[in-house]
Amino acid sequence: MNPKVLILGPPGAGKGTQSERLADEFGVEHVTTGDALRANKEMDISDMGLEYDTPGEYMDQGDLVPDVVVDAMVQEALSDFDGFVLDGYPRNDHQVEALEEMTDLDVVLSLSVPREELVDRLTGRRVCDDCGANYHVEFDQPEEPGVCDECGGELIQRKDDNEASVRNRLDTFEAETAPVIGHYRGGEDFVAVDGDQSLDEVWADVKSAVESNA
Ligand code: ADP
Ligand code: ADP
Ligand code: ZN
Repeated sequence: MNPKVLILGPPGAGKGTQSERLADEFGVEHVTTGDALRANKEMDISDMGLEYDTPGEYMDQGDLVPDVVVDAMVQEALSDFDGFVLDGYPRNDHQVEALEEMTDLDVVLSLSVPREELVDRLTGRRVCDDCGANYHVEFDQPEEPGVCDECGGELIQRKDDNEASVRNRLDTFEAETAPVIGHYRGGEDFVAVDGDQSLDEVWADVKSAVESNA
């Protein structure tokens, strides 16, 4: 089984955390635009006629990076794999159309979590500087403080996980990405998952949704 999974939800809903588990469980690739863009924060996009010269200038403020940049990254990543879990894309209506041209999906998961819980999750998030694994200072602590359980890398706080950028990202989500979820809702492959449960409870729901749909 090589499921093609799309995971949707607001920033902080647990997409990255659950995607890692799906990638391990089903042997598929975790394709995440957030990580791909962070690895290319300083990429020179000055010849594209955009407002800023690098993706990082959009990201640090919590604004979306322009579609032309992101579409090309996803197109290239998806063409390399049979099965995947796509996390962080599509984030607006244009990206939905672009994705429809690229691939078919087996299951579309949507994680929902109340806004104030999202702020707590994001401002307490720590990520591995080497492998990108997610932790939380309270809700998902590593065995040794500051050290990644997976690879021994250093845990850091993302530059955009401060309260101002978090609130801007949540507003951007409401304005641009909530309609994307509306687009998929009601489709036969769509599964709504309550993201406001423990990590293991969310995982049980996510895993069974993929098993029964893919
Ligand atoms: P996203 O990829 O949707 O932005 P993450 O997977 O990075 O979200 O999770 C955001 C933060 O919340 C991380 O610090 C993570 O450890 C924590 N987290 C994820 N799922 C849960 C959960 N079910 N309960 C509590 N904290 C969670
Ligand atoms: P989170 O889920 O915590 O908001 P991500 O790691 O998914 O964070 O994304 C970080 C930043 O990367 C976003 O705030 C945005 O600037 C940029 N980004 C990620 N995915 C996209 C996308 N599909 N379209 C435009 N910008 C994106
Ligand atoms: Zn690591």
